[in-house]
Amino acid sequence: MIQKREIDDVLLKYDPSRVKIGTLCSHSALQIFHGAKQEGLRTVGICPKERKSVYEAFPQARPTEFILIDAFQDIMDPAIQEQLIQRDVIIIPHGSFVEYVGAMNLERNFMVPMFGNRASLEWESDRRKQRQWLERAGLKLPKGYKSPSDIDSNVIVKFSGAKGGAGFFITSSTKDFEVQIERRMRRGLIVKDDVEKIAIQELIPGVRYYPHYFQPAAGLRNSARIELLGMDRRLEVIDESYRWSGDRQNQESLYTVTGNQPAIVRESLLPEIIEIGENTVRASNELFPPGMMGPFSLETIYSPERGFTVFEISARIVAGTNLFPQGSSYSFYLYKEPMSMGRRIAREIKVAARKHQLSHIAS
Ligand code: AMP
Repeated sequence: MIQKREIDDVLLKYDPSRVKIGTLCSHSALQIFHGAKQEGLRTVGICPKERKSVYEAFPQARPTEFILIDAFQDIMDPAIQEQLIQRDVIIIPHGSFVEYVGAMNLERNFMVPMFGNRASLEWESDRRKQRQWLERAGLKLPKGYKSPSDIDSNVIVKFSGAKGGAGFFITSSTKDFEVQIERRMRRGLIVKDDVEKIAIQELIPGVRYYPHYFQPAAGLRNSARIELLGMDRRLEVIDESYRWSGDRQNQESLYTVTGNQPAIVRESLLPEIIEIGENTVRASNELFPPGMMGPFSLETIYSPERGFTVFEISARIVAGTNLFPQGSSYSFYLYKEPMSMGRRIAREIKVAARKHQLSHIAS
């Protein structure tokens, strides 16, 4: 496990006036580069060769320079890491980065300073730890089922990894669970290993909201209060299932995320939205100090009877923030200028660099 002081040693060699923002060219990279540009910071795009043209096609969101790679995993290559360190780069982790590289791999083998507290990625990606975190925060969670034989009501069956809901299905009995798993295995959609890592959760009825929070690092702002920068809901295949009801061919992709839509909640629900975000940060401070820093999102389902139930946390920037490169209906009440999540991250890095406090915001 790489220790924080090892990263601090790397940061000590950085020239704060030359610090750059780097990320893998995927997921929310355009927004991250765009936000950095708005803050006047230089950027490095670690980019698979065949994607370079995409990132060159958007002049306002093009990285200042590219490091070309063959595959995403190549970012772990010691020579690439060295190039990043030589360029005074702070990496912004996003969903593709965590998915392709793996939280454990990052914690053990990635020496480039990353924005935020890298321990939060491990607490996010280990389901048991994630549950412990959210329970400690006192959030309402869906009931978890240890074994398919315990299924006694409507449940959602999830496969591991941030694959955007691919393959998830709902069922209400052990027998149907077995039929559905069998069918997926026969069709080669899943293998035995996937079945072993399955999670079964109570299916929560209600309306989905995915608030985007930013937790400033302690000491960098007068107020370390959580910022609600935006909110979205994901567009999943099931959302339009009324158009093809009866068509069971699509059962395998019902929960696959295909896009995002902006959302706001009734103003009377905002106190609870803020409270669950703050409680999540408080619990993280206790479990893995200095806790959750920077962007994160809670995946919630609201019903008037239960309030907000949280079924997942993303301890990093989420793709739903891509909706708001010029700010959202919430960020306008926090900032006088357009403030995307990408820009907010860049602002935090810029302020920390100016105060010679990069070690406060990176690990
Ligand atoms: P996830 O990959 O965990 O973000 O889940 C993908 C999608 O599955 C979500 O956006 C929801 O539509 C749905 N989902 C996940 N967990 C639950 C749950 N416990 N109850 C109802 N729907 C859920």
